[in-house]
Amino acid sequence: MIDTHCHLTFPDYAGRIDETLARAAAAGVTGAITISTTTRDCLDALRVAEEYDNVWCTSGVHPCHSDDTPHDWKAIRRVAEHPRCVAWGELGLDNHHPEPNRSVQDPVLAEQLAFIESCAADGIDLPVVIHCREAFADLIPILRASTLDRSRYVFHCFTGTPDEARMVLDFGAMISFTGVVTYRNAKGVAEAAKLVPDDRIMVETDAPFLSPEPVRGTRPCEPAFSRHTAEFLAKLRGVGWNAFHEQINANTESFFRIKVPEHAS
Ligand SMILES: [Zn+2]
Repeated sequence: MIDTHCHLTFPDYAGRIDETLARAAAAGVTGAITISTTTRDCLDALRVAEEYDNVWCTSGVHPCHSDDTPHDWKAIRRVAEHPRCVAWGELGLDNHHPEPNRSVQDPVLAEQLAFIESCAADGIDLPVVIHCREAFADLIPILRASTLDRSRYVFHCFTGTPDEARMVLDFGAMISFTGVVTYRNAKGVAEAAKLVPDDRIMVETDAPFLSPEPVRGTRPCEPAFSRHTAEFLAKLRGVGWNAFHEQINANTESFFRIKVPEHAS
């Protein structure tokens, strides 16, 4: 398997990406997608993806960085055009953190979606990684109004209720789980994870954040730990590890259009 969502450009991994990926490989996590958060970070993410055969990147502005202006959309596009870039994002809405305020987040989301639509019209054909924190009722109607293919969104780090999972599934998107699903105080997230059809689920860490059980609290979290979350989900859903593992790899490969490496290079 690979870790489909982590932030290897964050200072936690400075000078330590080699060893971090080696520990991942030892845990059977043979690659990672490093997710962009700003129009500068996307360039760093691409640099990492160019350096490692088993790391890919994305290109986008995180809602919590909406106020990190000016946004250099040309840089976002340049990264998106690179063969090592496999998705837009992460982008979306965050009602959990008070800052930046929604009056700052909303126009940046609108601008980013319009930008992605115009790139799509130019033939840049990528799926979209969505950040949605306590914002399902606000965000889903916005995405419904977009012309982008609904099956090509993934709601990453799902921390909502079973009803919110149903909203995302009815909308048509994929759902991806982090270590939060393993937490004893997040039973609703685990209930939600049981609802997701086999072909709509993916697994990630969101490292450096959210280390799963049984290593909860470890900082930084790292891609190796996505294995814990995947094994937890297999048990929760009542499927054998081999079957679940094959399913998440198939989902990852078709969603991001990459080949999950059998052995880390
Ligand atoms: Zn993230």
